[in-house]
Amino acid sequence: MLTYPHRQCTTFHGVSRNSVPISFAFCCRIVITLRLYLIQPHSITLLRLPMTERILRLDKAGAPVEWLDWQVAATLYARGLVTWTLGEEIYRLHGGTSRTTGARSLLSLHSIIACDGITHSYKRPPPPLTNRALFRRDKHLCLYCGKSFAENALTRDHIVPTSRGGKDRWLNVVSACRRCNQRKGSHRLDEIGMELLALPYVPNMAEYLALINSHRIRGDQMAFLRSQFGKESRLL
Ligand SMILES: [Zn+2]
Repeated sequence: MLTYPHRQCTTFHGVSRNSVPISFAFCCRIVITLRLYLIQPHSITLLRLPMTERILRLDKAGAPVEWLDWQVAATLYARGLVTWTLGEEIYRLHGGTSRTTGARSLLSLHSIIACDGITHSYKRPPPPLTNRALFRRDKHLCLYCGKSFAENALTRDHIVPTSRGGKDRWLNVVSACRRCNQRKGSHRLDEIGMELLALPYVPNMAEYLALINSHRIRGDQMAFLRSQFGKESRLL
């Protein structure tokens, strides 16, 4: 029997009233995964709905790496790659019953997990630049006129235009409304008398993961990420 006693849940006894059967497709995925690791799952239940909450993966040194679906996290647990956990238990998976001991296998998934493997240096490359992350970095404001806009009404403006040698990088881009972007055109700011209301910055990985997670970020996950935000972060 494989049991993962990372944390005891005192409120759960067998199949919780809050537990619901997961879909057949999900059952198949997790059954196949667990079978690969010599677990004989009999039935699987989840404690929580909706099943959209993601798990924050850290490297073994505690640097944030990525968001995981619970299926991927379960695989890491089953492979013994989860070295320590933080946060609350948010999913619980039941496997099969041991023929020899009669005990039932259990997999408890926590909201933050640290995995063995490569330690990510804090000097790693900047996170990928996307419009969604950029607009969220700039709080959905046009950094020229200061007005707030919906995501689909914003544009990525290059402070030094690409036609003038500007790079498509975090430090050379800001959110801008269409009107300000058109007004600026291919000019430099000093040529047209426009000014930035805030300076661009490169989000670190903790900020980036907070920016890109379209799912709800749990309070314990956000507290962990916020502790690693840069001093210039607008997310603080
Ligand atoms: Zn504007």
